[in-house]
Amino acid sequence: MIEGKNIIGFGLSSEGTVGIQAPAAATLEPLGPLFYAATMAELNQAVALAVAAFKVYRKKSGVEKAAFLEQIALEIEALGDTLIERYTAESGLPVGRAQGEKGRTLGQLRLFASLLREGSWVHATIDPAMPDRQPLARPDLRSMERPLGPVAVFGASNFPLAFSVAGGDTVSALAAGCSVVVKAHSSHLGTSELVGKAIQKAAQTTGMPEGVLSMLFDAGTEIGGALVQHKDIKAVAFTGSYRGGKALFDLAVKRAEPIPVYAEMGSTNPVFVLPSKQTEATAAAYVGSVTMGVGQFCTNPGLMIYSQNAEFKNHVKEKGAVAAGGIMLNKGIKAAYEKGSAHIAEHIQILAEGPNPESNQAAQAKIFEATAEVFLKSPVLAEEVFGPSSVLIEASSTDQMKEIAAGLEGHLTATVLGSEEELVANAELLEILEQKVGRLLVNGFPTGVEVCHAMVHGGPFPATTDSRTTSVGTQAIYRFTRPVCFQDLPQALLPVELQDDNILGIKRKVNGIL
Ligand code: NAP
Repeated sequence: MIEGKNIIGFGLSSEGTVGIQAPAAATLEPLGPLFYAATMAELNQAVALAVAAFKVYRKKSGVEKAAFLEQIALEIEALGDTLIERYTAESGLPVGRAQGEKGRTLGQLRLFASLLREGSWVHATIDPAMPDRQPLARPDLRSMERPLGPVAVFGASNFPLAFSVAGGDTVSALAAGCSVVVKAHSSHLGTSELVGKAIQKAAQTTGMPEGVLSMLFDAGTEIGGALVQHKDIKAVAFTGSYRGGKALFDLAVKRAEPIPVYAEMGSTNPVFVLPSKQTEATAAAYVGSVTMGVGQFCTNPGLMIYSQNAEFKNHVKEKGAVAAGGIMLNKGIKAAYEKGSAHIAEHIQILAEGPNPESNQAAQAKIFEATAEVFLKSPVLAEEVFGPSSVLIEASSTDQMKEIAAGLEGHLTATVLGSEEELVANAELLEILEQKVGRLLVNGFPTGVEVCHAMVHGGPFPATTDSRTTSVGTQAIYRFTRPVCFQDLPQALLPVELQDDNILGIKRKVNGIL
């Protein structure tokens, strides 16, 4: 049952008087019940419990934390159709997508559990004492990754499961040993509550401390802002708009104790198409990638750059004219899409528009066209328009493609399509792009982010506020840890990962050798 209450430790709370409605994405009709925005007292209580929980949770073994994550997966599975129905109503996304995203969410919980069970992720590094070293003895030095403390997570609107309450940010923080306070996204309040309660139940079943996770609703930006500024919060993870991410980053750096903010803020993911790939199949794949999920992916290819080829442009035009739009996630995102695409239309022409949308909340697919000269003079064209739109840019030469690449800001991804010979001949283009992105692809499309060990979903500013990290995949865990070195500690006081007998059998670096 969805009750509209904040989740605070093992309890539910609705002390506030401000009610928030959860509208259906397609009709904007309230779905009920009324959700109560957290009060400052509730926020303080959630953080106090997170602080108390951290003292216990940070010492849980990898196996214990893994059992917790696996239990969360089981509790989410047990929500069955209730979760899928609420997800689809709140997001406007179809059942297939809901099920796929649920699978991804369960998969990533289990992937992190396997990382914890294996255990070597802590980077245990040991330089044993050298008491006889001349001219100075070396002390015993042992280091490993340790959790930061209680952290804040802001759920993303476009992934109500995989990047929300039990999504990648929460899971990587819990895996690191941090307690978590989630600010639920206003776009999927009921989905958030269902998943928050699943985590609460899993924490109780597996003997985790109260406060290991709390979840708060907010009627505006007050609770989210206060959470970031709370003195006991030690890091923030966020996925959303540049405006929101930068505002939270600015709040965090102005604190008496500045803290890291891992904000993933968006990107236009340029795709460069070399001549041999300027085909009908590429045009179809491009338009498919632009419109997938109604274009509401941070890896949506918002820019495609090709060399002069009228036939290819015609293929894009044909595919764009029949491209489906669809219901957008919420009223704000739909309004931002209309405003953003109207702004682009003030500068350049539309090459193709999909069929008229069937409802006020649906977006129409739009492919714009520009020459490289115009693009290079109009920075606005490189800005993200979140939704099923993209700009097709005609370059006169591969040198001009390189000029475009060199002028790009930070993005999550960049893609080059070409034959092996073309790729080798354009190695410099790839080299330029590598410096602009977190993930460089060839002969694919950037939508569809694999959750695995090697994934990097990040990139230089303004794609994120910290290019050294990833928000997808197991390396996301390092956003919530810091290395600690223990010098000359007795064996019994060392974390088990650093003790001589290595009972966990993890991989360690001893005297620089793995
Ligand atoms: P958003 O407006 O940035 O909101 C994300 C989360 O941060 C929400 O929980 C929001 O609260 C909170 N928030 C935003 N600004 C805040 C502030 N100043 N202080 C405290 N909390 C704040 O993003 P969105 O709602 O997901 O979508 C809006 C736009 O973001 C889209 O049109 C798109 O341009 C972009 N977007 C990008 C990505 C991406 O992956 N790059 C993903 C989604 C959206 P509320 O819940 O109360 O709004």
